[in-house]
Amino acid sequence: MRYTYCPDCGTKLGFRQAGDDGLVPYCESCEKYWFDSFHSCIIAMVVNEENEIALLDQAHLSTQFKTFVSGYITPGETAEECAQREIFEELGLELESLEMTGTYWFERRGQLMHCFLAKAKKQDFKLSCEIQGAQWVHYEEAINYFPQRKGSAMPMLYELYLKKLEEGQPWKPL
Ligand SMILES: [Zn+2]
Repeated sequence: MRYTYCPDCGTKLGFRQAGDDGLVPYCESCEKYWFDSFHSCIIAMVVNEENEIALLDQAHLSTQFKTFVSGYITPGETAEECAQREIFEELGLELESLEMTGTYWFERRGQLMHCFLAKAKKQDFKLSCEIQGAQWVHYEEAINYFPQRKGSAMPMLYELYLKKLEEGQPWKPL
């Protein structure tokens, strides 16, 4: 998001040179730059010891596909803390392992996604009210339930998980 007015004092912003970043919105009253802002979010693929993936039904995100756990990072929280919190809030799962796999720019929503692979013991979900349903689905079948857009976070996490399985990479304990 590009700022037009100063969020602190409401003055219409001008532009000022900010070193290598070029012209940046600037408040003359507060003497402060307002760099473009965007949301930082997490997305986490949760798997269990039977190689099943937690797939969620969230109509407000997609009516066509199932989703992974996702959410907004709140101020003061790390991406890792956010991933653990969201997985607990949405599915009621305590994790055995959480591994950050990288970040992904989600163009359609203008969000920076911090991507995670997470492991939990197979158990029943305790769903948050924002989730309509969730299932453990074996990984070979799970691929049919999410979009395969190249470079998007879900297939990317899935590929990393397959590689982990094939190579027998151990999970880092939390
Ligand atoms: Zn201002």
